[in-house]
Amino acid sequence: MDPLPLVSIVCPAFEEEEGLPIFHRALKAALAQLEHRFRFEIIFVDDGSQDRTLDVLKSLAQIDPTVSYLSLSRNFGHQAALTAGLEHARGDAVVSLDADLQHPPAVIAELLHQWQQGHDVVITIRGDDQRLPWLKRFTSKAFYRVMGFFSETEIRVATSDFRLLSRKALQALLQLKEQHRFMRGLVQWLGFVVKEIEFQPDERVAGKSKYTLRRMIRLASDGLFSFSRTPLRVPIWLSGFFFALALLHAVLAGVSWLRDTGAAWHYLLVIVNVGIGCVLGSVGVVGEYLGRVHEQVKQRPVYLLKECELRPLEVGVAQRREAA
Ligand code: UDP
Ligand code: MG
Repeated sequence: MDPLPLVSIVCPAFEEEEGLPIFHRALKAALAQLEHRFRFEIIFVDDGSQDRTLDVLKSLAQIDPTVSYLSLSRNFGHQAALTAGLEHARGDAVVSLDADLQHPPAVIAELLHQWQQGHDVVITIRGDDQRLPWLKRFTSKAFYRVMGFFSETEIRVATSDFRLLSRKALQALLQLKEQHRFMRGLVQWLGFVVKEIEFQPDERVAGKSKYTLRRMIRLASDGLFSFSRTPLRVPIWLSGFFFALALLHAVLAGVSWLRDTGAAWHYLLVIVNVGIGCVLGSVGVVGEYLGRVHEQVKQRPVYLLKECELRPLEVGVAQRREAA
């Protein structure tokens, strides 16, 4: 009999000493319902916490043989911690979720169900949570609107880092070596068959959110600048505006010359606007080159395969062709 498929559960944790034992208990209870169909390993990633998070993880690993842990040398941030966990996952599929119980472990059953239906990527969409502070809800919505406008990769509104990746999708994701990692975007960039499911986030079990405004801005700018070259194109658009102004003043200068009203300032404005247009245009051209360099240094694969079937060549075909 084939062994049950192995599923890795990856949980980044930064200063979560209070909540971790409660989270672990809730996670185990959810996984217990699924144990007749899957085997599980739980990988916690301590993201350089200053509190007792690592000690708590060590004691969890002592009482639970399915728990492994990694500890980063300092705080590298949520997306880096997730990457570390994913790199160490050994499962046929991997589920990532936050360690604060805001991502309800009960939803894992649905993620696994969708995986078994043949989806390589199952993402979750956060339902609107009225309990969250308004600033957080507003900034989150605004961010996805801006991303939707700028990004060359479609990023769905309110996607979270609670998701499942098949081994195939995980392997593809780990080929992306870029430094600034906005996982929600990277996962969409992969392609594959993506299934979305909605969930209602719960309240944080203990402690407070580690996503300060500064961190949120950093994550948003990683998302924006890694998935869009549009900001680099702004100078080109602006130069177009200034050239149009120059043209307008050129027309007005022509009209005043015909009428002999002699409005010299139109001539001056033509020169000034052409000058500004040229400077912005040149910056834009540099931006275009820079954009291409940026694409190149990210070193994303040129393509990813969904399937590939290369039939073995008939023995001797090549030789026979040569002889003919
Ligand atoms: N986290 C992390 N490193 C960080 C910040 C957060 O590993 O630098 C973890 C954190 O412990 C939690 C998850 O990432 O498991 C999401 O963070 P948080 O709950 O603070 O964010 P929010 O849910 O408020 O957006
Ligand atoms: Mg949280």
